[in-house]
Amino acid sequence: MTSTTRKNDVTELDAVVVGAGFSGLYMLHQLRQVGFSTIVYEAAADVGGVWYWNRYPGARCDSESIYYNYTFSEDLYNEWTWTSRFPGQPEILRYLNFVADKFELRKDIEFRTRIHSAQYDEAANKWIIHTNDNQVISAKYFITGVGCISTANIPNFKGLENYDGEWYHTGHWPHEKVNFHGKRVGVIGTGSSGVQTIPEIAKEAAHLTVFQRTPQYSVPAKNHPYKAETVQQAKENFHEIKRKIRSSMGGLPIQPGELSALEDTPEARHKKYEDAWEKGGAYLLFSYNDLLADEEANETVSQFIREKIQETVKDSEIARKLTPSYYYGAKRAILDTDYFETYNRKNVSLVDVKQAPIEEITKTGIRTTNEAYDLDAIVFATGYDGMTGSLFNMDIRGKDGISLKDKWENGSDVHTYLGISTAGFPNMFMITGPESPSVLGNVPVAVEQHVEWIADCMEYLRKHDIETIEANSEDEIAWSKHCRKLADKTLYTKVESWYNGANIADKARGFQIYVGGYGPYRDICDEVAKKEYAGFSLASSSKSLEWS
Ligand code: NAP
Repeated sequence: MTSTTRKNDVTELDAVVVGAGFSGLYMLHQLRQVGFSTIVYEAAADVGGVWYWNRYPGARCDSESIYYNYTFSEDLYNEWTWTSRFPGQPEILRYLNFVADKFELRKDIEFRTRIHSAQYDEAANKWIIHTNDNQVISAKYFITGVGCISTANIPNFKGLENYDGEWYHTGHWPHEKVNFHGKRVGVIGTGSSGVQTIPEIAKEAAHLTVFQRTPQYSVPAKNHPYKAETVQQAKENFHEIKRKIRSSMGGLPIQPGELSALEDTPEARHKKYEDAWEKGGAYLLFSYNDLLADEEANETVSQFIREKIQETVKDSEIARKLTPSYYYGAKRAILDTDYFETYNRKNVSLVDVKQAPIEEITKTGIRTTNEAYDLDAIVFATGYDGMTGSLFNMDIRGKDGISLKDKWENGSDVHTYLGISTAGFPNMFMITGPESPSVLGNVPVAVEQHVEWIADCMEYLRKHDIETIEANSEDEIAWSKHCRKLADKTLYTKVESWYNGANIADKARGFQIYVGGYGPYRDICDEVAKKEYAGFSLASSSKSLEWS
C-alpha cells in the first residue's frame, strides 16, 4: 500500500491518478512497482471505468477478447479465460475486478471520490488537488486516466424535466435490471451503443420506436462462444500476440490489405468483401489500404454495405431510411448482432429525426416536428462529449493559473505534445489524451503504451534529479500540425462525428486524434524518450535543460 504522509490535513503523494478504468489500474500498478507513492481517485463505487457505467442491454466490446486485455503480465494473460469472441460488458467488468484483486490495487484507490480541481503551484512545484469531498492532496505528478468517451451527452431537449416516464443514458445505466416488458420504449441515437441495445430492447418491449438522426453502416460481429482450443492457442502464443498488437496500426493483429480497392476487379473486390463480411469484426474495413483515404475506394465498400441493408430489411421505405450515404468508417465503424434484422419486427418502428427533428420531450413522450409519440421509457443512446469532455469536467490549471479549458479555447484549439502532455502544465500526463491514437484502435494497447512511457519517464526524471518536465510550445504546435496534416489526408475529417465534436451542440469542431497508427506512434514516443525527452524542457532544482 502507498505510504502517504499528511501535513496540515493535506495528503502528500508522488502521483495522483484520475480514474480506475484500464488506464488508472495499470498506471497505479506500474508506479507502485517502481516505488512512487500513488493514489487513484475514482468517482464510481468500484473499478471498471466506462465498463462500470455502460451496463445497457447488449453492451459488448468490438475488439476481440483475446486482444482486448492487458499484455504486461503473462501470468495474468494465462490466468484469465475469455468465453466469447467479443466480450460482453459483465465479462469485461469481471476481468478488471480480477486484475484489481490479483495486483491488490483497491487499497490505493479512493472510490466515490471525484477530482474537482487540480492546480499547479509553481513555487512548490506541486499539483494541489481538491476532491468533491473536500480532501486536499499535494502531488508532484498529476496523471489523467479519464478515457476519451466517458462524459455522457444528453442533448438539451426542451421539456425533459416534465417527462413522467423513466429515462436512461446508455453510459449511466442502473445496476439493477431495467424491465422493459410490456412497455413502449423510445431509443434516441443509432451509434455503437444504440445499434447494440436496439435489438435487445426490441426483444423485451411491447413497442420500440427508434429516433434516428443519421443512419449507420454496421457489420455483423459474428460473435460466438470461444472454443477452448482457441483460447489455449492464444495463451501459447502470448509473446507473438503481444508483439503483433503493439506494433500494429490499430492494436489488433490485422493489417490493412496491401492493395487499393481500385486495383482489384469489381468481381474480386466483391468476393473479398463477402469473405470479410462472413468473418465479421473489423476485417471489412481492413480489406484494402485506402478505404479510409480515398473517396472512390470508400464508395465501393460503402455501396457493398448499403446493398446488404437493402437485402436484409424487408420494408423498402424503412430500408431507404436506414441507408447511409457518408463514407463508411469515417464515423466510428460499428459491429452488431441482428441490428438491421430488428427492423423487420412488428413491434419496432423507425422515425427519421433529421427530416422531422425532436422538438420537445413532453409529459408523455417525444414530440417531433411531425408527430407525438407516447412512451413509457426513453433511452438516450446519444453518446459522449468525447476527447476533451472529461478533462474539462475538472478545473485543471497550470502555470500562471491558466485553465486547460481556456488554453485549448474550449476545445477549438487543442495543442498537446504527443497527446501525453501540454505546454504550461508541468508534470501532468494524459493517458490516451487528445492527439494520441487512443480511440482509433484497440484501446487497452494504447493505454499500456502510454502508461509504460509515463512510468519510464518518471523513473528517468527521478534518476537524474529532474524536478519538472514540460512540453515545449513550439514542439507541441509542430505535433498538432503533424496530426492535422495526417488527418486531412483521410476521410475522418470529411464527416460529422463525435471524433470532431460535431455531436455536441455548440462544441468547437476539431479532429484531435493521431491517425498514423499505434505502432508508428509508439516508435515516435520511444525515439523521444531515447533522445532524453526531446521536445520537453526538463529542469532540476538548480538548472534548466532543454532539448528539441
Ligand atoms: P455516438 O456514436 O456519438 O452516437 C450517438 C447517437 O446519438 C448518434 O446516432 C447521434 O446522431 C445521435 N444523437 C446525438 N444527439 C442527438 C440529437 N440531439 N437528436 C437526435 N439524435 C442525436 O455514441 P455511442 O453510440 O454511445 O458511441 C460512442 C463511442 O463509444 C463509439 O463510437 C465507440 O467508440 C464507443 N462505444 C463502443 C462500443 C463497442 O465497442 N461496441 C459500444 C458503445 C460505445 P448523429 O450520428 O446524427 O450525430
